[in-house]
Amino acid sequence: MADNIPSPCVFCGPSGAGKSTLIKKLMDEYKDVFGFSVSHTTRKPRGSEVDGKDYHFTTREDMLSAIGRGEFIEHAEFSGNLYGTSKAAVNLVLNERRMCILDIDVQGVKSIMKTDLNPIYIFIIPPDIKVLEKRLRERKTDSEEAILKRLETATRELKFIHEQGDSVHKIINNDVEVAYSKLQGVLSSEIGRVRDMRFKLNL
Ligand code: 5GP
Repeated sequence: MADNIPSPCVFCGPSGAGKSTLIKKLMDEYKDVFGFSVSHTTRKPRGSEVDGKDYHFTTREDMLSAIGRGEFIEHAEFSGNLYGTSKAAVNLVLNERRMCILDIDVQGVKSIMKTDLNPIYIFIIPPDIKVLEKRLRERKTDSEEAILKRLETATRELKFIHEQGDSVHKIINNDVEVAYSKLQGVLSSEIGRVRDMRFKLNL
């Protein structure tokens, strides 16, 4: 990444793999370093999700017009809903000289790979699909139909992740503390670089 711009950081992995927990831990520990790219989605809010913080909840019609106006870096259809990263969401974080975290699906990753964003790619992998199923059921936020759809998508996503070479980071999340310390290891040099950069800029 350019000298004075923190590297964006793309997180990808099946829902239920523990991505959100790891992202939250990272953002809590390094408040000064990371910012979250708030995606748009047409799905309904879940649990305690807050509009504008977890997602920008929107309608398909509004989102399709914004995509038509070229306002999105990438977008994808996932489990019957549209999701997308707006240019504004990423620029907001990068302009503050923070590493921008994108939490996106495999289709989004494929689109980002074709852009010049050049992020650090981190794939979070569940130890096996049965664990994923258990986590999705315990979460109690999805219908049976939605769970089955998510598991089917997860199988496809895992195949793609396993096909990726060494230029990306793959972290198996069996134990959240172990996975988190691997994540810190992967990001430590960029975290240091961003802190230096922010210090020099008096941020
Ligand atoms: P969930 O409905 O569980 O919040 O998210 C479902 C999937 O959509 C997750 O894999 C998540 O990473 C992905 N996702 C969330 N935001 C975006 C986005 O802006 N773009 C893409 N391509 N995927 C997203």
